[in-house]
Amino acid sequence: MEKKRILTGDRPTGKLHLGHYVGSLINRVKLQEEYRCFFIIADLHTLTTRPSKEDIEAISTNIREMTLDYLACGIDPGKSVIYLQSAIHEVYEMNLFFEMLITVPRLQRLPSLKEMAQSENLKEMPFGLLGYPVLQAADILMPRAHLVPVGKDNEAHVELTREIAKRFNTLYGEVFPIPKVMVGEVPTLVGTDGKAKMSKSLGNAILLSDDEKTVQKKVFNMYTDPKRIRADIPGTVEGNPVFIYHDVFNPDKEEVEELKQRYRNGKVGDVEVKEKLAIALNAFLDPFREKRYIYAQQKGYVDEVIYDGTMIMREEAKKTLAEMKKAMGISGIWNRISRKAEDKKKRQKGVMV
Ligand code: ATP
Ligand code: MG
Repeated sequence: MEKKRILTGDRPTGKLHLGHYVGSLINRVKLQEEYRCFFIIADLHTLTTRPSKEDIEAISTNIREMTLDYLACGIDPGKSVIYLQSAIHEVYEMNLFFEMLITVPRLQRLPSLKEMAQSENLKEMPFGLLGYPVLQAADILMPRAHLVPVGKDNEAHVELTREIAKRFNTLYGEVFPIPKVMVGEVPTLVGTDGKAKMSKSLGNAILLSDDEKTVQKKVFNMYTDPKRIRADIPGTVEGNPVFIYHDVFNPDKEEVEELKQRYRNGKVGDVEVKEKLAIALNAFLDPFREKRYIYAQQKGYVDEVIYDGTMIMREEAKKTLAEMKKAMGISGIWNRISRKAEDKKKRQKGVMV
């Protein structure tokens, strides 16, 4: 039996961080055997908030860094397809068809889009940003994915994809599976500022590629319980980003429990809690760093991975779009006209000879 399919991916706006790992990457790596996986480098999505020439120029470097992050995490191009969104021409067409199947108020209700506009200091919503989830639906449905492993912030977008797929199937016939969302064990990892979700664009991220010193520095600048101006003041563990990270990334559960106890009782300084966190995070990141270094040494490898993946995806895209247009009857219009016109031309030619 053919394997079920996964589609997910990231915008090439920078290097990947711990939030990506726990929200989505960890599931991708785990499911590589069981599913046929398609991982999209969503460069067109980057244009929704960053359309300038400089932004576009930065994409190439970001793509390379992001792909190295994928490889470092254990995504295996021998098993999974890594491809470049803007090189799949069919997605532009599919996006247009899907735009007809969803209303503007439905899109306006999505809080994630408002947040994205805000975080990029956009005063008004660009048309393309409003259409972000529609383009995402085209990405997901292009390889006819059954499962979409993403972070919590993307859950509502997958719901919208489901609506579009259902609407399409109802109007034109069963072409698409109705994809399910899969949110990671840590649906939203908070940033080092303790305010917002960890994000490439907010400067509150610990990157998978950060070196030891950078991790130490970021951890020492992390937000903790603000009422603890001295080590002997009892602190709050719940919702405290330092302890959230300890819970997720420190495998020594006894150490974490003991630190929590002492923190609650005002018996430990922030410095010790953070030192132990930096050690745990660095141990967690070490294997990624090693793998990343090895792949980065292989000149041209990343480009080749993306090239191969994109060529595979192009074949998939051709098939899906053709089937979709056939179901809609839209390809039939041109087919009829061109057939008749060509026949007429042939007949005329025959008369003339
Ligand atoms: P940008 O700031 O450019 O939007 P981002 O850091 O939000 O970048 P995306 O490329 O938008 O990252 O997201 C890629 C995937 O990672 C999505 O599935 C998203 O849900 C997930 N993700 C991103 N940040 C987090 C986070 N802090 N916690 C859990 N999952 C996350
Ligand atoms: Mg985002």
